[in-house]
This record gives sequence, structure tokens and C-alpha cells, in this order.
Amino acid sequence: MAASAYESYPPELSPEEEKYLLSTVKDWSIAHGLAVRPAPTFVEPSSDPTGVLATTAPVTLFPSLFPRKCFEEGLAIQKAYNELYSAIARDEGWLKSIVEELLDIDDFVAKLWETHLAVKKEGYVQDLSLGLFRSDYMVHTDPSNTSAKPGLKQVEFNTIASSFGGLSSQISALHKHLLAIDAYPSSTASIIKPDALRKSQSASSLAKGLALAHKAYGSSQAGRPLCVLFIVQDPERNVFDQRHLEYALLEENGVRSFRVVFQETMIHTKLDTDRTLLYTPPNSPSVSYEVTTVYYRAGYSPDDYHSPQDWNARLHLEKSRAIKCPSLLTHLAGCKKVQQVLATPNSPHLKRFLPDDEVASRVLATFAPIYPLDQSEAGKEAQRLAQNPDSASRYVLKPQREGGGNNIYRTSIPPFLEKLPETHWPAYILMEMIEPPPLKNAILRNGELQRGGVIGELGVYGVCLWRESGEILENLEAGYLLRTKGDQSEEGGVAAGFGAVDSCCLI
Ligand code: ADP
Ligand code: MG
Ligand code: MG
Repeated sequence: MAASAYESYPPELSPEEEKYLLSTVKDWSIAHGLAVRPAPTFVEPSSDPTGVLATTAPVTLFPSLFPRKCFEEGLAIQKAYNELYSAIARDEGWLKSIVEELLDIDDFVAKLWETHLAVKKEGYVQDLSLGLFRSDYMVHTDPSNTSAKPGLKQVEFNTIASSFGGLSSQISALHKHLLAIDAYPSSTASIIKPDALRKSQSASSLAKGLALAHKAYGSSQAGRPLCVLFIVQDPERNVFDQRHLEYALLEENGVRSFRVVFQETMIHTKLDTDRTLLYTPPNSPSVSYEVTTVYYRAGYSPDDYHSPQDWNARLHLEKSRAIKCPSLLTHLAGCKKVQQVLATPNSPHLKRFLPDDEVASRVLATFAPIYPLDQSEAGKEAQRLAQNPDSASRYVLKPQREGGGNNIYRTSIPPFLEKLPETHWPAYILMEMIEPPPLKNAILRNGELQRGGVIGELGVYGVCLWRESGEILENLEAGYLLRTKGDQSEEGGVAAGFGAVDSCCLI
């Protein structure tokens, strides 16, 4: 598709076209759970005292243009990424060498590692681990070489609470629906075609991943009913995204699941003498379910740990015989520092985990340059780049955190480092900014339409179930997510209020 498609897409809408499109989006989204709970600032607590309101999730009106080759490559290498990260999670010694550099300067990483050591001391009693991963990418265009082909570059790899798999299936279905009912102007007919739109199977596929772990757990020795336990935050605005997985788990796989607020773990669960995890639903206290799989949609941020009791709750879950999604070591494998070490030029690390050269080179091709901020040669060079406002403007500084809102961008880096004691610099990594092609779209957020330049971020989901011995029982690509943000915002988190869910219009 010619560059002109990027300039003229999406087309201007007449008032009538816009009205039809918007009314369809508003109704379809609520009818299909493409929704979030309203932001507390958006709704007066007094106008929703029982918490019944829901609103359309931030969505794009049009599917954003995305290079077909890049999309297909992202999906094609997901199984290699699953293999890579499951291998890292099994290599305690290698992970230790990375985590050790962070222990004195990152309390959260230190606590996760300490919790792992505490479980190890008593002995792990479950050798299966489940990963519901999401590898995030942007399309990179070289500003100095505009004729070069766009390439897919990885933003990060998520190993815990990879979200939006539920809403992603819905937004890709919504864009297909809008095409089917002729809600898009006829001038887009050569671009928004049925074979250009891809339905994301993420909700079904992630639920299938949980179901596969559930089944692999086996039956209850005590003849108890079995369940999957979602460990969640409260309040959770993005609850419908998670509900889609729960519904698919039950309807497509016949697996029962329950939700427990992370801070209430110790109230509702207990460990049997053989460390079987038991859950008692508050509405039927006479029945205890045996938990096959603990699925964390909380616990990835220090903010989730309100008191030392919450660390006890994490330890309690980790000690249990339930399969963890993810295990502590898998959670730690998602540290940005791991991504930086893998991206070290000419290092042996990638080969250690991906012995097949061809597979490793395809994965390697998606790495953007990332540097440590330590006392190594590369680290000292990165420190120089980060302290200078001119060079810093090409970089993003990242701590070992998840969930958005933690990074420091471009010219904000030098003043940030100036205030941070130098001993703490190695807790961060310095990454080159990926520069995606300029795109336009219209985002509907809180009932308001925002039009203009946008940046897209592709997420590819993966399911991986493995044994500590190295046996991989399941390895699947599990659908995709496109998140789109205004090009004035550096962050893209939908939950954090910066981005919208979107689907791909392949070109
Ligand atoms: P988190 O784990 O908090 O989501 P990310 O590494 O995904 O951290 O960074 C958050 C956001 O910052 C991304 O969604 C993306 O919009 C932006 N971002 C991060 N790294 C880069 C990069 N190298 N180039 C461009 N944007 C980036
Ligand atoms: Mg992340
Ligand atoms: Mg991210």
C-alpha cells in the first residue's frame, strides 16, 4: 500500500456518518462487554452508590493501519518467545546473577527474590508453571532512511498479568461489525477489507491456557471440586477484560473459577497439610474447592502490597501445590533488566536459551538497543548518553516495574538522574526510543472523540505450560492486542488512561 494510504486514512466523516458510527460503537460495546467501570473522577460516587455503571472502554473508531509482514512476524515468533522466557524462568542460577545486581537498590525485586528463597527452603511442591505472556512491539521506521522497510521492535515482554486479552477479542469483533454494517465510508473500501481485519482470539486462547494448566494439575486426591483462582485488585476498573476470560473458561472449557482480592487471600484460602490450596466461597462456606491454578491479575506492583501481611499472602500462594501463573521466577524473568541483558550485542545469552540459530536470529531481529546504567563499559557510555539532554532525547529510562506510568522519557532523563543517587542508577535500563510511522485515528474516551496523530503498539499473547525438568507441555500463540495512543503521550497504557484498544487493518 502506498504511503498515501497513511496520509488519507482514516477519512473525514460527515456529521451523519459520525453519528451512525458513534451510536453503533456506544451500543455494541456495552452489549458485548467492551467496557470498563467509570473512573472515580468521571462519576460522582453519589450518582453510582452501588457501583452498577459501566462505560465504553477507550476505543479507536477505525482499525489502525499495520504492516502485514510485521504483524505476521510478531505472531510467528511468539512460540520462540514463549520457549525463551520459560527457559529463563527455569534457569535459577542465570536469573540469580541478574537479580543480585538489583537486590540492594530495588526493594520490590529483592522481596520477590526473598519470597522465592523462602519457598525453596521448604521445597517447591509443584513442578508445573503456566505463562500467559504478552510480547509488545512497535513498528520502527528509520528516520534517516525513509526508504528502508519498517521492522518490528520489541517494547517489552510481560510475564505477569498480561491484560486486555478479553477486550482485544471484542474490539477486533467491533471493527469487523462496523465493516459489515457499512458504518465506514465507501472511500475506505479498498483499505478496510474483510481480509485486512483480524479477529483476535486472545480471550479464548488465554482461557484455554488456564484450562490446560487446570487439566494438567490432575484430580483432587480428596475428591474435592477443582477451580482456578483469579487474584485481583480492588477496585478494578478493567474488570470486564478479566470477566471475558472467566466466562470463556467456563463456557468453552467447563472450568470453574473464582475471584479473590489479593489483600483478602488469607481470609478465603488455606493450605492443607500437603500444601493443597483450598478456597472456600463466601456464599457457600460448606464447600471447599481445590485450587489447580493461581492466576495473578494483581501482585505485580509494589502498590498491591499494603502491608507485610500481603507479602505473607504471596508466600502462602507460592508455597501451595497450585500451578502459578506466573511462578515467582517467571515473574522475575519479566524484569526489564533481563530484556537488556538478552539484547547485549554479541552476548551468549540468547543462544543459551534458544539453541536453534535460525529461531534465535529471528528473535534477535526484534530487539531494540538497550543499555545498562552500571559500571561496565557499555554502562558508562549509557550514563554519558543519559546525562546529556541532546542524546537523552532518543531514549527512555525504565525501572523494574510493570503496569505503566513508571518510565522517564527523553529530555526528562538528565534532571531525573541528577536527583537520583548514582548507586541507584543500575536499577534502571536505558532503551532507544522506537520511532513508529505517523498514523491518524479517532479515539473515543469517556464519551469524547479525540482525533489526530497516534502511535500503535502490537501485543502478541502466548501460552506456555512447562515442567521444571524442561518438558514443555503446551506452547501456543494466543492472539493479539493493538493499543493506540495519541502521539503526544509517551505512555500507552489503556488502564493508566493514556491509550485505547484497537485492532489491526493490515496493509
Ligand atoms: P510497562 O511494563 O510499565 O508497560 P513499558 O516498557 O511497556 O512498561 O513502557 C510503557 C510504555 O512506554 C509503552 O507502552 C510505550 O508506549 C512506551 N515505550 C516504552 N519503551 C519504548 C521505546 N523503546 N520506544 C517507544 N516507546 C516506548
Ligand atoms: Mg509491562
Ligand atoms: Mg508495557
